[in-house]
Amino acid sequence: MVTALVAVLVGTAGLVAGATGWTLVEYGLHRFAMHGRGGRGIASREHLRHHAWPERTSPAMRSLAYLGSAAGGVVLALVVDRIGPTPLAVGVALGLMSGHTAYELGHWRAHHRPAANRWERWMRPRHFHHHFVSPRTNLGVTVDVWDRVFGTYVAPGQVRVPSRLAMSWLLDDSDEVRPALAPQYRLVGLPGSSAASDLDRALADLPPEV
Ligand SMILES: [Zn+2]
Ligand SMILES: [Zn+2]
Repeated sequence: MVTALVAVLVGTAGLVAGATGWTLVEYGLHRFAMHGRGGRGIASREHLRHHAWPERTSPAMRSLAYLGSAAGGVVLALVVDRIGPTPLAVGVALGLMSGHTAYELGHWRAHHRPAANRWERWMRPRHFHHHFVSPRTNLGVTVDVWDRVFGTYVAPGQVRVPSRLAMSWLLDDSDEVRPALAPQYRLVGLPGSSAASDLDRALADLPPEV
């Protein structure tokens, strides 16, 4: 009984450590593997294409990311199991994969679905500030703590959103920003206009032209 309780507590501690660790991995990957390589390598290329065309998503790339997170979880579990108790290893791996899932779903939903809870309403202005104003800041998606630690946090204020790249959930039937969201977002540029340089600018870590 006591042994089972200890295993649950150790596993829970591992879960928290793994999920926290994910937020740092997420920050590091986004800052260095995606934005730090100018489109070289699959992670950077796909991510900067996401900046150029935020509405497009690739089910294959999303699946690949889940496979990568599962593989990372297995490797981490094997390593931790060698130096610590098995419940800790299982907890850490599940925490990492849960953190990745929260990030991936939260990020996908931010671009495609109306916010469903307080966390989504909180994290979105930072992420869209990262997309549309300053791609070298606000690199954490799920949390802002690592941006604050490493000096890349910027308070998003009212985020300017290029009309041609506006998220569908942001707009009402007249293609204006929904009144409830107006304190957080404003449209700039002409609706329906296109910018041929979106990919070039994304590759150079510059925000889209308006
Ligand atoms: Zn995004
Ligand atoms: Zn980015």
